[in-house]
Amino acid sequence: MDIWLELEKCLKTAGNISFWWRDDDVCAPKKKLITLTNIRYERRLERTLKLLAKYNIPGIFAVIPKNFLEHKGGQFELIQKYNTFIALHGTEHVNKSKTGPKSEFPDDCDVQKTLREILENKTKFEEVFKDRLLPMFVPPFNSICALLKQQLLGNGFAAVSVINAGTHEPYNVDIDFMDWNARKLRPEREILAQIINLIKNGQTTIGFNNHHHAINMCSFKFLEKLVRTLSGFDNVKWVLPF
Ligand SMILES: [Zn+2]
Repeated sequence: MDIWLELEKCLKTAGNISFWWRDDDVCAPKKKLITLTNIRYERRLERTLKLLAKYNIPGIFAVIPKNFLEHKGGQFELIQKYNTFIALHGTEHVNKSKTGPKSEFPDDCDVQKTLREILENKTKFEEVFKDRLLPMFVPPFNSICALLKQQLLGNGFAAVSVINAGTHEPYNVDIDFMDWNARKLRPEREILAQIINLIKNGQTTIGFNNHHHAINMCSFKFLEKLVRTLSGFDNVKWVLPF
């Protein structure tokens, strides 16, 4: 059976299903890169924001704080224009792990110093974005040391959002659209099959993780069709994960 038909068939009998959308790596313009890159990123961000607005989807855009409020620029303006929800995405979004998988906040990070930096960013972003800044922290590379996570949850953050692996938490994303080796959208069939599987396994809240930087016009058509298809079902709701 065609995978799109299979998805529709699955949704028809699924009961109430909620989806939510996290979109990562909104950032200040990178001055060292050629301007064309900034323009391309802005265009892709706006296309995504427009799509979500069209279907009344409360997307959460994870913003890299470094220089974002100071440099402003096109991505800052778009976030303001579309009045979207945002979350803090690390501090600088750099890998600080000397060994093992990438992490901005490895086990040997200075927890108190990092906590201070994150809370300072939270205060500065709240001044500008008010309650559109959600109390959700999104650590880059889906990695954060346990002690820092605990400190964030005790200091004004309601959730630390990574990707669900094995266990399910509603504030963690389930499906990352990106193929990180090729740095482009994963095959459509694979993403749809993953959605179908989660529904068949009884999951009722499913979190998507998009990276608008990587979505060219061709892969955007898939996102458009996905959102249109899901939104066509009365039993489907788009939500915030908490
Ligand atoms: Zn990121």
